[in-house]
Amino acid sequence: MSYQSTIFVTGGAGFIGSEMVRNLVADNNNFVVNIDSLSYSGNLDNLLTVANNENYFFSNCSIGDKLSIKKLINQFSPDIFINFAAESHVDKSIEDPNPFYKTNVMETLDFIIQVKDYWKLSNKKIIFHHISTDEVYGDIPEGTSPCDESYPYNPSSPYASSKAASDQIVRSFYRTYGLPVLITNCSNNYGHFQFPEKLIPHIIINGIEGKSLPIYGDGMQIRDWLHVSDHINAIKKVLENGKIGQTYNIGGINEQTNLTVVKKICSVLDSLIDKKPSNIDSFRDLIKFVDDRPGHDRRYAINCEKIVNDCEWEPLFDFDKGIEQTVKWYVENEEWWRKILSKHYKLARQGRLAK
Ligand code: NAD
Repeated sequence: MSYQSTIFVTGGAGFIGSEMVRNLVADNNNFVVNIDSLSYSGNLDNLLTVANNENYFFSNCSIGDKLSIKKLINQFSPDIFINFAAESHVDKSIEDPNPFYKTNVMETLDFIIQVKDYWKLSNKKIIFHHISTDEVYGDIPEGTSPCDESYPYNPSSPYASSKAASDQIVRSFYRTYGLPVLITNCSNNYGHFQFPEKLIPHIIINGIEGKSLPIYGDGMQIRDWLHVSDHINAIKKVLENGKIGQTYNIGGINEQTNLTVVKKICSVLDSLIDKKPSNIDSFRDLIKFVDDRPGHDRRYAINCEKIVNDCEWEPLFDFDKGIEQTVKWYVENEEWWRKILSKHYKLARQGRLAK
């Protein structure tokens, strides 16, 4: 069978990458190759619905494995590369920055060199779409306007600085070699299949288990939340309508403090779970303020007018409905996260994971 596009998705076993893979595989015009090294957050259970589809191929491979990447490129002659592969958790980057610079910088460089060589040799019309974050812009002072694409990079955490470096690598490959690239910088995502370490799933799972709900500092840090499916639609719109070489911010136009987000989760848990732990009236009673994260940015706020105007995209999910749906998903899919927690725990005990 011939396909309209062959698309390489890296990091396609993670939270956002797997949403992209499921979405793309659903269209039989695409052939999707998922390249993921299955680090601690990569999970093939996220892909059970597509695993046996004819238009899907999985390769357990690092983007830094030059030989294997070259082989995959020669085998499938891709048209589009969407690069999600990364170390993605800020707290882990504070504990040990090394894997962040290894994957997000050096392996991204290895990967884009392979793509550039393929593009030069094949003379094929391709696109390299790099997925990045709003954290590269750093703290946006309260009371100031959300940042647009011309805002200077000022990353705070090792995670954010490694992503900033990867963006600059991709940009330089456009400027120096003319490689057709697109970059998107997205705000905080939430939704189903998010790894339990991140704020929203962590709070939901702790609530279900009757554990305390830790909030850094005073909980007044502001983030702009976007449903993962809105992010995927934005990426597809940029691939369709974006201008090569350009950067597009993607945001939910939905600034919320961490405390508000946690309280919203508690309200949904209150309405969904009849049997609360005996010592509480509401899940809010489990909230516990803990020492703030070092270098914690107070506010991320992104101006996404460019993608709205140029690519005909807008976020569709209402945050309250999205949170309700997400909490329900974690309540109904306990097996999914319990399996991760037990595996994570075993690996941590063997010293193979930062705890
Ligand atoms: P995730 O940790 O859930 O997924 C990352 C995936 O990358 C995992 O499947 C992992 O196994 C894979 N991976 C790691 N190193 C690899 C390597 N060397 N080669 C191949 N695969 C590798 O992260 P996520 O939240 O899905 O984030 C995906 C991307 O989106 C990242 O680039 C991140 O910076 C970006 N992003 C995330 C958010 C968010 O809120 N989660 C927001 C904006 C941008």
